[in-house]
Amino acid sequence: MTRPVRNHHARPAHGPPVAEFPACPRCGSRDLHIPTLADGVVPETDNLAEWVCDPCGLRTTPVWFEDEEAYGEFLAAVHGAT
Ligand SMILES: [Zn+2]
Repeated sequence: MTRPVRNHHARPAHGPPVAEFPACPRCGSRDLHIPTLADGVVPETDNLAEWVCDPCGLRTTPVWFEDEEAYGEFLAAVHGAT
């Protein structure tokens, strides 16, 4: 099993805020949420860099995207599109 791509959520110190969105590195879904107690996570102590993917249940550091084009390419790669 390969490790998910580590694409840390680095935000530039200057300039306008960038509208970024997370995606699941396993299934490519954008339906992720920050873990809560319902996910067995104690927010104060657990690593909040990890999100939970709703469709596949993966708890991971999501891949962040700033534009739809990059996300589309990622999605094609995840699903093995040719
Ligand atoms: Zn997923």
